[in-house]
Amino acid sequence: MVTDIAQDERSNAAPQKEGAAIDIVSVTQAFRSGGKDLPVLDEVSISAKPGEFVALVGPSGSGKSTLLRLLAGLDRPLFGEVYVDGEPVRKPNPRHALVFQDPTLLPWRTVRENVAIGPEALGRLRDSQDRIDAALALVNLTEFADAWPAQLSGGMAQRAALARALVNDPSVLLLDEPLGKLDALTRRVLQGELLSLWEQRRFTALLVTHDVSEALVLADRIVVFSPRPAQVRDIIAVNLERPRDQSSAGFIALRERILGLLDADAAASGTDALHYETDATE
Ligand code: ADP
Ligand code: MG
Repeated sequence: MVTDIAQDERSNAAPQKEGAAIDIVSVTQAFRSGGKDLPVLDEVSISAKPGEFVALVGPSGSGKSTLLRLLAGLDRPLFGEVYVDGEPVRKPNPRHALVFQDPTLLPWRTVRENVAIGPEALGRLRDSQDRIDAALALVNLTEFADAWPAQLSGGMAQRAALARALVNDPSVLLLDEPLGKLDALTRRVLQGELLSLWEQRRFTALLVTHDVSEALVLADRIVVFSPRPAQVRDIIAVNLERPRDQSSAGFIALRERILGLLDADAAASGTDALHYETDATE
């Protein structure tokens, strides 16, 4: 990890640079579907400070993944603009990493070779070996570096996907329900690991999750989306010390408040209000 980080630090004015600032300004997005326009995001504005951990919860199909794709530079908004460190996002950037619900590892590559994809694409494979080792160590996969994806449990595969994102030393980590398919126990373990990764690396995190408790365990602030087309229903600051005690009165009160917001919307739109209590997937 020595070479690239040293270079990054030289080229940056602030050597102790943490994550990047995110500014989503009045973003409206729509898709053309069945001959009609499907409005998905309606003037959504969200900001995250450098190194902040923001969670995003909202109904299925409200536009959460759509927003992450805009931040990752995979799509462009119809109106409004998305900025990272003041620069409009126009294309993907390896330092703005996106982790999906499915780990999407290449089955014909070992864990290590999967983590090496980013440096390889940047033509830096040769001088990135330390960085790859460090990423594997960060997610506790050193001993599985030479394993094949098919040999991994769900949790390990998702750790490998995280390592693949972390190897590029992201200033922004976009997480699209990354723990959504894991069993409850594994999910808890990985929540702890994600927290410690963030504490060590201080990237700016934007986590989409169905699990309100997960959002409360991890985030500094929680953005609640309305049903599609998504508007920001509320933004809730989680002023609780970490590690967070899920049985504390403060935690439970915030949980009830957020579930209340989601349930009110679900009741209004006729969808299943209990959706958020469970481990529902799409
Ligand atoms: P969420 O992640 O909140 O569940 P998405 O952002 O994936 O929701 O999708 C929001 C809505 O936009 C859904 O109705 C989905 O079908 C639609 N959508 C997403 N991507 C596209 C696309 N590329 N073309 C057409 N419709 C899309
Ligand atoms: Mg989604």
